[in-house]
Amino acid sequence: MALAYVGLGSNLEDPLAQVTDAFVELAELPLTSLLARSSLYSSRAVGPEQPDYINAVALLDTQLAPLALLDALQAIEQAHQRVRIQHWGPRTLDLDLLLYSDQIIEEERLTVPHPYLTQRSFVLYPLADITPNLQLPDGTPLTDLLSRCPADGLLRLPSPA
Ligand code: AMP
Repeated sequence: MALAYVGLGSNLEDPLAQVTDAFVELAELPLTSLLARSSLYSSRAVGPEQPDYINAVALLDTQLAPLALLDALQAIEQAHQRVRIQHWGPRTLDLDLLLYSDQIIEEERLTVPHPYLTQRSFVLYPLADITPNLQLPDGTPLTDLLSRCPADGLLRLPSPA
């Protein structure tokens, strides 16, 4: 059993619906349960001019091994007919494995903790919604990362009624 944090992002084709549907699909993964979901956030896109993103983070309890979980995340992305026109370009759904318990993974297809984890407000703030006292595998407290990461352009969306 592992605790896996997954980052969700979308900026095409009704991003709110893409992310909301993806939470349901994550909850339906085999050998996995959805323990928590962050608020939804709107963030400005990194890279060439493109629409704002909707971002969120999910916490999963899973018996899938890291690469099996990555396969499952990529299958969900495919089901959303992900459009990849360019690196950093717009996409219907992007799912990133941010953390997998306290494991450090350096494989060809998979780097965990996810390389952008320490610097991106659209990951750090939703992570803090779920687990404010989270520590990275190297012991870095999430609060330290947050104190160094301005919430530039990041907006927490009101929860649906
Ligand atoms: P991107 O679409 O920019 O998120 O990149 C997807 C590629 O990153 C895929 O080929 C994955 O195999 C690779 N990758 C490496 N580490 C991770 C991770 N922690 N989560 C998701 N994809 C990853």
